[in-house]
Amino acid sequence: MKKLSIEERLGTTKFIVDEGVPHIVLDKSICATCKGKPCVKACPAGLYQVQGDSVSFDFAGCLECGTCRVVCLPKGLKWEYPRGTFGVEFRYG
Ligand code: SF4
Repeated sequence: MKKLSIEERLGTTKFIVDEGVPHIVLDKSICATCKGKPCVKACPAGLYQVQGDSVSFDFAGCLECGTCRVVCLPKGLKWEYPRGTFGVEFRYG
């Protein structure tokens, strides 16, 4: 069986966007004071980007793994699962 790269694995997922209702919301003032910004390195989907002191984020493409929720020590984000019928779909085969 061929071993898939991260990009190939991410290509097997689909995210149904709930427009205007992000399931992860950042408190940008807290993020700006966070020294390590661990979410940027920890997110397997690479959804967090650093721009100067601030962090930008796009919830479309989230895998709902919860890693950012765990590593965010300043608790600068509000994290909930997407509403029913929205969010990640894992496709196999
Ligand atoms: Fe990234 Fe996982 Fe957080 Fe989604 S839940 S933004 S995939 S770390």
